[in-house]
Amino acid sequence: MDILGIKHMAIAVRDVDTALAQYQRFLGVDPAIEPMDLTKGGSREAHFDFGAVEIQLCQSYEPGHRFAQHIDQHGEGLHHVCLSVSDIHVAVEQALAAGAELKECSSCNVTGIHEHSEGWICFLKGESVPGMEIEFMQVYEPDEVPERFRSSPRNM
Ligand SMILES: [Zn+2]
Repeated sequence: MDILGIKHMAIAVRDVDTALAQYQRFLGVDPAIEPMDLTKGGSREAHFDFGAVEIQLCQSYEPGHRFAQHIDQHGEGLHHVCLSVSDIHVAVEQALAAGAELKECSSCNVTGIHEHSEGWICFLKGESVPGMEIEFMQVYEPDEVPERFRSSPRNM
């Protein structure tokens, strides 16, 4: 498998507005960044870039939702890392062959490879590798972006 880099890191936080303000104060994150409500995914999130890596601060609306659940079990912190791969089918095949299991995407209720706004993605279950949960993404080439995502380049 060919990992090109980290696309994003999702951090589970209790209160995204408070967390964002701290990132802005301590790390100089653009003050124009504001949290947004991603109702489909059940979360309120703030997204910004550290160089080539996008940071996603994620707060669940409901207890029991994935980020709230993560905080119950582990406290605030890294929820998952999205690795950019050159071929998601190869990456997923290799992970499965090595014993990984797939996890449902809680935004889309789909298990396995499926379309998101920026690329094809797939979640692996639990801690297939210690310390972080993995999402693979094969970023679309400009001519591969599905019709329904062409107007909104950045909506999870
Ligand atoms: Zn999805």
